[in-house]
Amino acid sequence: MFSVKLLDKSVEFEKPVKIYEILKLLDIQKSKIVAARFNNELYDLSKEIDCSGELNFISSDSEEGLEILRHSASHIMAQAILRIYPDAKFGVGPAIKDGFYYDVVTEAKISEEDLQRIEEEMKKIVAENLPIVREELSKEEAKTLFKKAGQKYKLELIEEIEGDKVSIYKQGDFFDLCRGPHLPFTGMLKAFKLLSVSGAYWRGNEKNDSMTRVYGTAFSDKESLNTYLNNLEEAKKRDHRKLGKELELFSFHDEGPGLPFWKPKGLIFKNLLIEFMREKHRERNYIEIETPTMLRVELWKQSGHYDNYRENMFFTEKDEEVYAIKPMNCPGGILYYKESIHSYRELPLKIAEFGKVHRYERSGVLQGLFRVRGFTQDDAHIFTSPEALQSSVIELLQLIDEVYKTFGFEYSLELSTRPEKSMGTDEQWEIATSGLKNALDELGLNYKINEGDGAFYGPKIDFHLKDAIGRTHQCGTIQLDMNLPERFDLTYIGDDGKEHRVIMLHRAVLGSIERFMGILIEHYGGKFPLWLSPLQVVIIPVSDKFNSYAIDINNHLRKAKIRSEIDLSNEKLGYKIRSAQMLKIPYMFVVGEKEASTNSVSIRHRDRGEEGLHKWEEILKKIVEENQKRL
Ligand SMILES: [Zn+2]
Ligand SMILES: [Zn+2]
Repeated sequence: MFSVKLLDKSVEFEKPVKIYEILKLLDIQKSKIVAARFNNELYDLSKEIDCSGELNFISSDSEEGLEILRHSASHIMAQAILRIYPDAKFGVGPAIKDGFYYDVVTEAKISEEDLQRIEEEMKKIVAENLPIVREELSKEEAKTLFKKAGQKYKLELIEEIEGDKVSIYKQGDFFDLCRGPHLPFTGMLKAFKLLSVSGAYWRGNEKNDSMTRVYGTAFSDKESLNTYLNNLEEAKKRDHRKLGKELELFSFHDEGPGLPFWKPKGLIFKNLLIEFMREKHRERNYIEIETPTMLRVELWKQSGHYDNYRENMFFTEKDEEVYAIKPMNCPGGILYYKESIHSYRELPLKIAEFGKVHRYERSGVLQGLFRVRGFTQDDAHIFTSPEALQSSVIELLQLIDEVYKTFGFEYSLELSTRPEKSMGTDEQWEIATSGLKNALDELGLNYKINEGDGAFYGPKIDFHLKDAIGRTHQCGTIQLDMNLPERFDLTYIGDDGKEHRVIMLHRAVLGSIERFMGILIEHYGGKFPLWLSPLQVVIIPVSDKFNSYAIDINNHLRKAKIRSEIDLSNEKLGYKIRSAQMLKIPYMFVVGEKEASTNSVSIRHRDRGEEGLHKWEEILKKIVEENQKRL
């Protein structure tokens, strides 16, 4: 006899029992239960239980359950592919962040046109509602089985499995090598879609066979799938690379892979963000410095970057001396800190730097502004005593909240704590971790704890923001550092007149400003709020006769610090309006006879359309206010 603990009760069993039999005893919604955890091990629902323990069910609504669902979908896709392409040989087919893929080799190459056909076949397999059955075989038996099926890549995988047993999963006449767990029936896959194909290599190595990677996604219900697919469509429309071209913001050239060129409008946008951050800094008593782009390699050896980060650094040499192009601003900031002796009265010392850094990224991973080799950080280093740590962190949390709210971002927080391999004493970690944690608690913020996920030199708080179409981006970070103060012997004089080790915080709010701009472009779909629009007003005279009136208004706008221009081209009115609309300029002022004679403008707003005749002085006042309020 043994007893199984379920939710809030315990049930006794006389003889071994399958998990799905136990599930039947429970009064819960069962259609989304995909697997179970028994004494913390993941199992299929068909697993037989013969000892006491705790049983938890996994629903496809959860992250873990969704992964099982998606992974099962990849098997169902493989089965469908094999039905259509009997010569198909399979590599690996894992669940990934937003779906799943399977790598496959076929004689007749699979292209995107074939996806619908494969999807139809998958629907049949789902309708057949085949049981998905786990079997354990000896390695030898498995090898014979996969050899007979001509699955040479699977044979390679079997060789690498430790121990002498392997598990396979069967659904109908299809079987696959897998650790599991899986859905109990193919019929449970209710909402899926194949998305794309791309090239891949067996084991990601260009020297190996080339394969086709077929991507798809699956969700626990149709509604979630549709939301995802709509967002995917929306994301394509909002792609910052496309919008960046259309809105004349930035460009890339083959001469500088991963190094963006900022065009006039894009540079205005970038500087607006920097000015916005500077304003926040001024409110909080930051100082700002600028340190050199390259410094002697010895500095980077002392900081540890040379040992740990060399692969990502660019170097240059002159007069037989090696310099490193900075990948981070910290060592420069530290040299500044060390220029003078600091008293506890000065702390926390908040030193900002809009530092241009360069990091090597493989050309294959470069992606618009999201992955670049040169970018500007809104970096700051806070030097603090242990006593002022918590209040410093509170100020940072409030700052980041204020900034993200201005853009309408929701965000979530993660606190990462001491990893197994770490420097420092228990006491130091206690001060560091509780400094961050108490700050979060004091503000009543919700956060997830990533136990053991901090850096070896300190705990950190990460900010994951959510954009208008539901995607998340990790941007802001507050990283406590006990390492660099040690390596560079950074101290302050306490109220006891003695030297103490200072605590250093690295923090970024926007992170990489370039990446953040990419996120903003997609978040707003290029329709920036007034304050962020590179060009805020365009004045459109209906004919040359009104050019001087237009120039007069333009001068007034510019005096009021509104970014405006006059469209003096020879085009027709309709064309001028369309091109302003294409550039997503918030306000168009149309001026002609009626307007000039009444000191007015006819307003057309980018989103709201025609807004009629207004005295230009009134509308100017309104726009100045809208601009100041950052609406
Ligand atoms: Zn599997
Ligand atoms: Zn730093």
